[in-house]
Amino acid sequence: MKKVYFKTFGCRTNQFDTQIMLSKLKNFTVEDDECSSDIIVINSCTVTNSADSSVRGYISSVKRKNPNAKIILAGCGAHSKGDTLFDEKAVFGVMGHSEKSNIDILLQKEDPFCEIGDLNHIDSTVVGDFIGKSRAFIKIQEGCDFGCSYCIIPSVRGSARSHETETILEQISLLSSNGFGEFILTGTNVGSFGKDKDTTLAKLLKKISYIRGVRRIRIGSLEPIQIDDEFKELLNEPWMAKHLHIALQHTDDKMLALMNRRNVFSEDEKLLNHISQRGYAIGTDFIVGHPGETEQMWQNAIKRVQALPLTHIHAFTYSKRDGTPSTSMTDTVKGDIAKTRLAELTKCVNEKNIIFRENNHRNLEVLIESTKNKDLYKGYDQFYNLLEVKSELDLSNSWIMIEDAEVKNDKNFFEYGC
Ligand code: SF4
Repeated sequence: MKKVYFKTFGCRTNQFDTQIMLSKLKNFTVEDDECSSDIIVINSCTVTNSADSSVRGYISSVKRKNPNAKIILAGCGAHSKGDTLFDEKAVFGVMGHSEKSNIDILLQKEDPFCEIGDLNHIDSTVVGDFIGKSRAFIKIQEGCDFGCSYCIIPSVRGSARSHETETILEQISLLSSNGFGEFILTGTNVGSFGKDKDTTLAKLLKKISYIRGVRRIRIGSLEPIQIDDEFKELLNEPWMAKHLHIALQHTDDKMLALMNRRNVFSEDEKLLNHISQRGYAIGTDFIVGHPGETEQMWQNAIKRVQALPLTHIHAFTYSKRDGTPSTSMTDTVKGDIAKTRLAELTKCVNEKNIIFRENNHRNLEVLIESTKNKDLYKGYDQFYNLLEVKSELDLSNSWIMIEDAEVKNDKNFFEYGC
């Protein structure tokens, strides 16, 4: 049988898509070494120009390391760069999101192929395992209808559409019967789930919580405006991870308008305080240095961040993305200024994280995910804070309760059963 190696770039949704492709292989074996593979499938990301460059760079490097391998481009890059890379003969094959479940047939093709497919597709594949993981990412929806001015995603993932509730429940039941206890609900715009199916994320969460073996449910990311009263009623449920990632992207209202965002700061502030008062850790996404971000806007934004109950941050400097409205905005921010703002923002929220952990380092429920070296393990607690655990016991993929962890600068630490 021919050997296939998978390289996955980008988000959790892409990780789920790779699991779908893995589950569809019948006439191939999965290889974990790209140099001895016959075929290399690149599940690509195209969220920024630099994401595109990383994929291109990877293609050149594997061509040097394994010149005889057939390179197949999948993922979001197939929709933004597929034609170009195929015409340049940089790749042997291109397969769009809707073609994932045909992977076993496509990889048998003797001639080069370019199957980009459509952007209306909804996966119905149920995977029985999440290879190499102790927690499972579950894609519940696809696409986005928002249209933020810096973002290419809607044009490579399509409009927002939900997976069938039955398929999601079947997916989680199968994985929980195979030992998984933590599930991360993912998608392009998770909070849009149900809008096209006359249901809601809150209703789905309740149904998932009834499945035997479901211990903790996390939600990949939510837009502030999508957190309604029905969802807020679930905040005290024991199966809800005590961490929410709520994508603000900025905290200055003029900047939010320039980014064509739907959230406004006064509502965001009320929402985050409401959630934090229920003991939650809160993460967010934030783009600094977007065109039009004046020093005054920045000073206003960082002052507001200092007042927000944030504990985790995914902060980025703005990165051009061809084909988005922001690219034609001329009042750009110098790279060094953007980097300084990024450092200031990250430092601010990291300090808040330490304070949060100093107030929340007891009775931590941790799922051990990986082994650092023989007696050191890594895992995350209910607040999505990292734990390093020292133990002579084999703790792989196990749940442990930690009475009182030591708070260190970048993580918590505990000696278990020693
Ligand atoms: S919500 Fe905005 S940033 Fe997120 S995927 Fe949709 S368009 Fe992109």
